[in-house]
Amino acid sequence: MNLGMKIIREILVDVDKCTGCRACEMACSAFHSNPKFSSINPAKARIRVVSNELTDEYVPIFAGNHTKSGCDGRHVYTVDGKTYSECSFCRASCPTRDYFIEPDSRFPLKCDMCESTPALKQPWCVEVCGEHALVYSEREVPREQAAQEPLGQLEIGLQTLMKQHGMEAVIARLKQIVKEK
Ligand code: SF4
Ligand code: SF4
Repeated sequence: MNLGMKIIREILVDVDKCTGCRACEMACSAFHSNPKFSSINPAKARIRVVSNELTDEYVPIFAGNHTKSGCDGRHVYTVDGKTYSECSFCRASCPTRDYFIEPDSRFPLKCDMCESTPALKQPWCVEVCGEHALVYSEREVPREQAAQEPLGQLEIGLQTLMKQHGMEAVIARLKQIVKEK
């Protein structure tokens, strides 16, 4: 059945171009502050740069799924002769590191590709990355194929929150946020 086309939005990362300037973290946290651009706090960013100046390691990672416990699949990676420490490429919001947990609410953070109305030309982290280490891409795929793609980020985020806090708590909190706006 032909269901038409769907656009897949992605951010491609070139770790060799990243200088660790952290402009992406600041822009993301500013865009997601309430009201928008009212504050900057990289601890609230949905992108974090794993850095080690001694090994020239700079890896921008986007907040992915939340997990209640740390994993035991940690590895040191060597790519093109360069060594990357454990967890460098992991997108999980996990209790063994302080990335991707909202410091005030303790809710997990997840990259939402800067969803907004009207839609942005490209996400803010990409917009501010002067090194072009982050590149925004859109591609069209048949809707049948799209249906087999993983759940959208919003759905995954909501499922994660409901698993962690229960549906009622999430709905109550959402109502409270709407009231506060
Ligand atoms: S803005 Fe670009 S160069 Fe700077 S830390 Fe982020 S990804 Fe790296
Ligand atoms: S796409 Fe938007 S939400 Fe995701 S990391 Fe970049 S600035 Fe943050």
